[in-house]
Amino acid sequence: MLCAAASGPGLLCAGCAADLPRVTEACPQCAGPSPGGAVCGACTTRPPPFDATIAPWRYEFPVDRLVLALKFGRRLALAELFGAALAERAAGRRVDALVPMPLGRARLAERGFNQALEIARHLARSTGVALAPGLAQRVRDTAPQTGLPHDERAANVRGAFECEAGEAGRTLAVIDDVMTTGASLAELARTLKRAGAVRVENWVVARTWPHT
Ligand SMILES: [Zn+2]
Ligand SMILES: [Zn+2]
Repeated sequence: MLCAAASGPGLLCAGCAADLPRVTEACPQCAGPSPGGAVCGACTTRPPPFDATIAPWRYEFPVDRLVLALKFGRRLALAELFGAALAERAAGRRVDALVPMPLGRARLAERGFNQALEIARHLARSTGVALAPGLAQRVRDTAPQTGLPHDERAANVRGAFECEAGEAGRTLAVIDDVMTTGASLAELARTLKRAGAVRVENWVVARTWPHT
């Protein structure tokens, strides 16, 4: 899908797959850059409501193109590739259910599918962890986060989700394609914990990475 080389049944040839920008030395809580893999300064100063974040790739070329090809180009086969990358990164982790980041009704109608749900479906199949697509709902269509300055993103998503109580004692993994500031993921984690979840992890395909 990225070069002209033959890749058999896979979307990417071995060379392109090996060259994808991997996340290494990341903060265990937010998956941001952290030398040595220690909890980063931001998470130490203001601990986020989620407990852990894993991301196989940095949101850079060509991962950004693959993410957009799934979301806007409807290349649904990419959900399988992303699910496999997440399953590999999540090996050894134990959660009770996978919760795809819910999409607002208007956005869902316009796109026709929720990319997070498509990724979570493959992940559930390969890990055997239960998929809980209806567990949380987006009750308010928010302005697209990408159009907002970072400091307004938390306010934009406040109260955006709803989850019925009944998650007492459960450990949940929220599945999403890209984590930028993490404002939506933080708000969803807060909502899930209010419903009784004891631990919420973010399993995202790609993490935006500051340029160094
Ligand atoms: Zn290739
Ligand atoms: Zn951190």
